[in-house]
Amino acid sequence: MTVLQDAHPRKRQRHDKSNGAEQGVEIVERIRDEEFWFEDGSIILAARDVEFRVYKGLLANHSPVFKDMFSLPQPPTSEGALESPCPVVHLADSPEDVRCLLRVCMPDTSTNLFAHKDPTYESVASAIRLGHKYQIAPLVEHALGYLKKYYTTTWKPLKSWAPPRFRPVHAIGIVNLARLVGCDTLLPTAFIDCCQLEGALVGGLLNADGTTEHLSASDLALCFSASIYLARECVRMEMYMRRPVVSPFCRHPSQCTRTFEKKHGPDVDLAKLCRPNPFYSLHSGYLSNHGAVCVSCASMLSQRDDDEGKKLWKRLPSVIGIPSYDTGRDNAKMRSALQHTQSDAWDGLGALDSHWAP
Ligand SMILES: [Zn+2]
Repeated sequence: MTVLQDAHPRKRQRHDKSNGAEQGVEIVERIRDEEFWFEDGSIILAARDVEFRVYKGLLANHSPVFKDMFSLPQPPTSEGALESPCPVVHLADSPEDVRCLLRVCMPDTSTNLFAHKDPTYESVASAIRLGHKYQIAPLVEHALGYLKKYYTTTWKPLKSWAPPRFRPVHAIGIVNLARLVGCDTLLPTAFIDCCQLEGALVGGLLNADGTTEHLSASDLALCFSASIYLARECVRMEMYMRRPVVSPFCRHPSQCTRTFEKKHGPDVDLAKLCRPNPFYSLHSGYLSNHGAVCVSCASMLSQRDDDEGKKLWKRLPSVIGIPSYDTGRDNAKMRSALQHTQSDAWDGLGALDSHWAP
């Protein structure tokens, strides 16, 4: 019999008369997915209240998890069971995630959905979650490849590292995805973006399926400590940059010196300099507010800014507790994570439904 623990709306009662006793069993009326329902499909994937009728062979070809499951003996049809044209597999995943997975396993265009356009956060997250769960390595690699172009390991002084169609709060999801697949190199910049969320960090990320996602308790604690460290570094770097030492090639030493002393003195509002992103527009804000230093001093300020930013960038991994920007170590961890997901996948995968008509 079929009992869905996470059943959603449209429910009705079905009476199962097996063993001579009448039992009320709650089942779900599901709708057919408009995009993935093939009349000659050989397997039905049921995700909450949506059914996808697709091809076993194609799924098995992409995923060793599905391949192993389909290789199991098929249960016989039981008397009184609801008839279904082919076996039904109940998935614990959301319909949105399953649809994303099927677009990759059964594409009608390119096999790399992330090569030529900017995907949404939701599609990238679905690809990584289900690619990881069902051991579809190319899917995970394509999605991570897109993220790595933005959450970079090379120094980039930016306000945020989020891709074009992502919102700031998606940084929470990026940290969790990086943890899931062992992609540590995404973490430094994703953590800076998390640190800039302030109160929204605790509120979490509302996903498309209505669930709210949070950082783990340890990563939340890491964000709090990193925020304090980065804000302190921000003030230190600003004050270091403004120290009243003019360029050796300064064209107006007295004027430039006065400007430096004014912006380095006791009247400086340190609260305004205190931000959890020390990499964003340090010198540009300073110059635009004053414009009272010569070209040589402006160039010197820019160089100081870059030098200090690069030094802190190198220290970022240790701030969040990873050894370095080591992509080789990253790849090894991801391979290991993919190889150890099968038992996790089976935990969230319902057995083949016994109610099917071969
Ligand atoms: Zn000057």
